[in-house]
Amino acid sequence: MEIKLIPVLSDNYIFVLSDPQQKVAAVVDPAVAKPVIDYLAEIDAQLIAIFNTHHHSDHVGGNKQLVKYFPDLCVYGGAEDRGRIPHQQVFLKEGDTVHFAERIGQVFFVPGHTRAHIAYYFPSATPEPGELFCGDTLFAGGCGRLFEGTPAQMVNSLDKLRQLPDNTHVWCAHEYTLNNLKFALIVDRENVDLQARYREVQQIRSRGLASVPSLLGIEKQTNPFLRWDTPALQATAKLNEPARVFGRLRGMKDRF
Ligand code: ZN
Ligand code: FE
Repeated sequence: MEIKLIPVLSDNYIFVLSDPQQKVAAVVDPAVAKPVIDYLAEIDAQLIAIFNTHHHSDHVGGNKQLVKYFPDLCVYGGAEDRGRIPHQQVFLKEGDTVHFAERIGQVFFVPGHTRAHIAYYFPSATPEPGELFCGDTLFAGGCGRLFEGTPAQMVNSLDKLRQLPDNTHVWCAHEYTLNNLKFALIVDRENVDLQARYREVQQIRSRGLASVPSLLGIEKQTNPFLRWDTPALQATAKLNEPARVFGRLRGMKDRF
């Protein structure tokens, strides 16, 4: 399975998964259709699936046109998103699986950013990394805003993702990393891994490259929104209980 990252709009990423042998492809969160269609023409592949993580227009905006162009494709999304994702045909719940290119994707229900948000995780035979498509739940160095969920829900959702192996690519849907890490440095200032990562991402971004995917192991060490149970973040929040620590940090980030 090959994964192509396509930058669109101001800071969105669309991911196209493809199987070069079978000449088929799937797309995660097509904000728009045109760049996807162009890329598929370039690799001469047929689109057979859209994997949506949630209903926001910068994730489903291309559904309609892609379905028109590839009438046989199947549109997947969360069960709770029924009625909100254009052309949705499959309504996924926690523990469901999706299949693409001989890989099996596990579905996680990760409410918080929206009440229906799901993530897709394709484990891999070691030593290759697994692939996590987490939409606007987990970002590199940050997490999504709580539009339709509570801090407790989001902590629960992020905790599910945090339990995946360190060697997992985190394919998040926005290039927010540098700004996220600026905030992280304020709330976790003694973290040397974080300081090193900030310098690294500065380099990457100054060369105009994507900071996505990141690795989950690095997120666990440096992302404040996966670190609600560390002494450093508890001290910053002046709280201990996970949802309250998380809620305080998320509130600070909303005002950052
Ligand atoms: Zn969103
Ligand atoms: Fe988004």
